[in-house]
Amino acid sequence: APPRIRRLEESVVNRIAAGEVIQRPSSAVKELVENSIDAGASTVSVTVKDGGLKLIQVSDDGHGIRCEDLPILCERHTTSKLSAYEDLQTIKSMGFRGEALASMTYVGHVTVTTITEGQLHGYRVSYRDGVMENDPKPCAAVKGTQVMVENLFYNMVARRKTLQNSNDDYPKIVDFISRFAVHHINVNFSCRKHGANRADVHSGSTSSRLDAIRNVYGASVVRDLMEIQVSDENAVDEIFKMDGFISNANYVAKKTTMILFINDRLVDCTSLKRATEFVYSAILPQASKPFIYMSINLPPEHVDVNIHPTKKEVSLLNQERIIEKIKDAIEEKLMNCNNTRIFQTQALNSSALTQANTRKDKGTEVSTPTGEKSQKIPVSQMVRTDPRDPSGRLHTYWQGQTSNLEKKSGLVAVRNIVRSRRNPKDAGDLSSRHELVTEIDYNLHPGELILTCDV
Ligand code: ADP
Ligand code: MG
Repeated sequence: APPRIRRLEESVVNRIAAGEVIQRPSSAVKELVENSIDAGASTVSVTVKDGGLKLIQVSDDGHGIRCEDLPILCERHTTSKLSAYEDLQTIKSMGFRGEALASMTYVGHVTVTTITEGQLHGYRVSYRDGVMENDPKPCAAVKGTQVMVENLFYNMVARRKTLQNSNDDYPKIVDFISRFAVHHINVNFSCRKHGANRADVHSGSTSSRLDAIRNVYGASVVRDLMEIQVSDENAVDEIFKMDGFISNANYVAKKTTMILFINDRLVDCTSLKRATEFVYSAILPQASKPFIYMSINLPPEHVDVNIHPTKKEVSLLNQERIIEKIKDAIEEKLMNCNNTRIFQTQALNSSALTQANTRKDKGTEVSTPTGEKSQKIPVSQMVRTDPRDPSGRLHTYWQGQTSNLEKKSGLVAVRNIVRSRRNPKDAGDLSSRHELVTEIDYNLHPGELILTCDV
């Protein structure tokens, strides 16, 4: 006999759905950061503990949440961004389903602190399984909203175990924030591990895209980028625009970095990524993978944003044609830049010398001119603080050199032993020659001495 069909309990349905929306800690961070951007924030700070399993905290300075909305805030399908299905066609905000916060309460413990403009105090309230655990408590608050998610997946044993065994999600979180920071250049993003003084991403708000990329990915990436723009405005039926930055022939990396925003949504597009990689490998001789930032804008009705539970993918009208156009534009850019390739040379001598200096002279004792307690400072970091000192204060360097000399004599002895083992004939009674070599080594000019040590 066929088994009976029963209706699942609401709590089971919700928990299953929640597991799809919040697949891992980084998806929770993405949802929270998107909420902050939707709230018009200009500062978004993320703190993460234990790869997000213990704690995720996202604070923003956006418009906040009304006190009277707090009771339904974390119910499933409650949103301020969508009212009719048709709105989906023109939606500009990143969220629209009202599922993210609710999902988090089914798989973790959520606490929200928020204040709206003009209020004297904010409110704090905790949620479990979609409902408030207590009435909102008045509290001190700074502008905006802070959402804290603790003990993610505490009630999903298998998921928690897999996540604990696999690599920490923190690099993924940093990656997300970095991408957002490159696109939303006027928002100041920061991301740090709980208790860390230094942020791993600190974008600082800026007005230039290149500055944003520099702040997040470093100056060496920016040096090798070219601007690219593509548009297809001639066609009557479609308007498509792309602008971005792509790496040139000098850029070297083992992995492709592809930061893609379609209508301001951070998405993945495997076919576009493959097409781009293909162009690079076909044109550039070296096996370097590209760095790509692209922002594609299409009429909202050409983009279906509702095809993936975490909104990671979108589907586009005329996708092939768009990819083809972008591919052509990249090809042209690369062809041009390949003609004027720059090879970076390294100033080897001077850097080797400074390296030798810093390595050998670490921890030299220094007495300050005022006679204070001596402190260990590497010579490379010393500065002349007293104008009466001769510039450079050579005597401190000399101390370093003396210890070099001691090491050097040991080195000569070892070298001689090795030589005698290799060539026993040579080992006879050539002690006078050894003495001679030692004497020469001792009398060498200090600068040369450092170099011979390192050879
Ligand atoms: P969605 O973003 O799809 O609307 P969410 O569950 O992510 O659904 O959020 C529900 C609602 O809570 C949002 O529509 C928004 O009104 C409000 N909200 C969530 N996060 C914030 C925030 N950081 N600042 C202001 N309002 C927020
Ligand atoms: Mg949302």
